[in-house]
Amino acid sequence: MRRSLVIANWKMNGSVDFIDQWTNVFTTFSPVSTELAVCPPFVYIRYLQQKFLTSALDINVGAQDCSVHESGAFTGEVSAGMLADVKCPWVIVGHSERRQYHGETNEIVAAKAKIAIEHGLRPIVCVGETLEERESGRTSDVVIGQLNAVLDAIGPEALVTGAVAYEPVWAIGTGKTATPQQAQLVHAELRDSVESRDSQAASALRIIYGGSVKPSNAAELFACNDIDGGLVGGASLKAADFYAIAQAA
Ligand code: 13P
Repeated sequence: MRRSLVIANWKMNGSVDFIDQWTNVFTTFSPVSTELAVCPPFVYIRYLQQKFLTSALDINVGAQDCSVHESGAFTGEVSAGMLADVKCPWVIVGHSERRQYHGETNEIVAAKAKIAIEHGLRPIVCVGETLEERESGRTSDVVIGQLNAVLDAIGPEALVTGAVAYEPVWAIGTGKTATPQQAQLVHAELRDSVESRDSQAASALRIIYGGSVKPSNAAELFACNDIDGGLVGGASLKAADFYAIAQAA
């Protein structure tokens, strides 16, 4: 049995005041069986960690990205080693916004997953097709290609320490959620692809869904066989909504 996993991606949102308010609400909630993480902007990782010390929930912090480089003259970058140093266990790699606005290719994403694993981090590997790719019937090719690039770099066992997030680009921040059937189909294809390399890893791997997940649609998405939780953007900015989504998983 895979334990469900729900992760908040705050993207470039938040402030010290916001975190104070969010955690004041969130830390009053009682434990859920779901494993949880929140990925704030880098500068707030340490502050959020301190806040979670008083929570009864199994909740951790994560980063939204890491550098492909170990260290050195890479202005503005944050390394996987630094995240490990501040005990930030999770890191998102290959989010579609990084692919789209920062030119991250499958090779770069694979290199990020690899360096994350080398530093003992748990990568959340994002895959997903654009609307144009879906409409031209290329969804499977695109997402399997994205996944395979990472599998080639780190192997299935290492991937199981992290997770895969299927995030159709057309469903992110648009209010348009993939139907549970659409999402389940892609999740099953992703799992099959891991299965062809390592069946144990395939059954242990958590594949979570992202793209306009809300309290009102979370339960039906998470009820699908191959959907093991969610990667939540907008709705995670409200502590009560994020908790409701965690309860649904
Ligand atoms: P929304 O939940 O705002 O659609 O964002 C999804 C996402 O990109 C999470 O990484």
